Amino acid sequence: MNDLLSQAMDRRDNPPAAPAVHRSGRKGPYDYLIVGAGLAGSVLAERLAAGSGKRVLLCDRRPHIGGNAYDHQDAAGVLVHKYGPHIFHTNSHDIVTYLSRFTAWRPYEHRVLAQVGQQLVPMPINRTTLNALYGLDLRNDADTEAFLRSRAEPIETIRTSRDVVINQVGTELYRTFFEGYSRKQWGIDPSELDKAVTARVPTRFNDDDRYFLDSFQAMPLHGYTAMFENMLDHDNIELALGVDYQDLAADQTAPKIIYTGPIDEYFGHRFGKLPYRSLRFQHETLNQRRFQPVAVVNYPDPSVPYTRITEYKHLTGQVHQKTSITYEFPQADGDPYYPIPRPENAALYKQYEALAKEQGNVTFVGRLGTYRYYNMDQVVGQALATYRRMTTATEAREQA
Ligand code: FAD
Ligand code: UDP
Repeated sequence: MNDLLSQAMDRRDNPPAAPAVHRSGRKGPYDYLIVGAGLAGSVLAERLAAGSGKRVLLCDRRPHIGGNAYDHQDAAGVLVHKYGPHIFHTNSHDIVTYLSRFTAWRPYEHRVLAQVGQQLVPMPINRTTLNALYGLDLRNDADTEAFLRSRAEPIETIRTSRDVVINQVGTELYRTFFEGYSRKQWGIDPSELDKAVTARVPTRFNDDDRYFLDSFQAMPLHGYTAMFENMLDHDNIELALGVDYQDLAADQTAPKIIYTGPIDEYFGHRFGKLPYRSLRFQHETLNQRRFQPVAVVNYPDPSVPYTRITEYKHLTGQVHQKTSITYEFPQADGDPYYPIPRPENAALYKQYEALAKEQGNVTFVGRLGTYRYYNMDQVVGQALATYRRMTTATEAREQA
């Protein structure tokens, strides 16, 4: 076990399992209105309430806390993620230390298989993938590197998600693993996506088949929602769930606002809509203990309409007679799940960002508030940095 994980494990018994969230109490006045009870909004609510003694109203238009990381027991009693699989991974000691105040952890290293023809092979592409796919006997990193070099098509200036992969592994492997999956996931060709998107899944020369290489990889021991409940269990935090920011009553406002919803929506789409990719989740409970060998199986085949299937019991370690799975069908319309990283969208976001900077009393944070393809740890880091900036600015004002 690595250092970060073992230190977090040492604290595993500290946080309570799940207290009831403080839902009602004094009605205003509030120092802060926070829109969105996902990670960005919840971290800031916790910090402002517990760290600075501020009174916070936290609203979300969904009927629950946790944003996209929300999990719950389904009708069969299996712990599932309502908005698709969420695996926590980070290299940041500070972020683990902060979250460990609210949750204990279950060590979990994510592994993904891709269905190619009749085979299930490890993804990201590694030595085992290549040996299985081509019936090879590559024995070490050097063998694998030489094999991939013979297939790679070097590209001088790597700009797009297509360039990244073709440059590493060549056209055939690109088509097998990336082209179909990415077209389904994003609704556009990888040649139109920023290089950062497929660079999230780099090819390896060794046989390490873990999806992430971060020093800390774990799941909240009692689930994400229990972690959020612990975070928000503070007398200074009042929750308004199932309430859209735009429908708040007159007494439910505050001199300062933190907004973690889509930034273009906040400004009434003044410069046009920022494109987001959505998903339809098809949840099923099966009358069997196991469905697939790992938590996530990817389907790069373009003729299969979904991108991946998740089986949650692998993530949570839950023992249950039945098992629950989720298919992800990407779509254009619906809840905004993914900002789409490409230059014209970044340019449009810049216009909204400039407008945001002119707002004296509103701060934009989070994946939707800052239109960034962020993982959970990055959102926590961004929220903590925002809090630090806010407190430094307040202290400076008070000293002046
Ligand atoms: P959100 O969680 O989206 O929260 C924003 C909240 O604001 C929402 O609850 C929304 O209802 C609310 N809201 C918006 N507008 C309004 C309004 N007008 N009024 C009231 N409320 C409003 N990250 C990982 O690290 N690991 C993973 O394995 C992983 N898997 C993912 C899988 C999927 C399918 C998706 C979509 C994301 C995944 N992520 C993963 C990313 C992770 O979900 C995000 O980084 C994180 O949850 C973002 O937190 P947030 O608070 O910025 O946004
Ligand atoms: N990707 C792919 N095939 C795969 C896995 C990933 O083409 O089997 C591409 C795809 O464009 C995807 C991106 O790499 O959107 C990033 O993958 P990741 O697993 O990080 O996506 P997320 O979990 O954020 O949906």
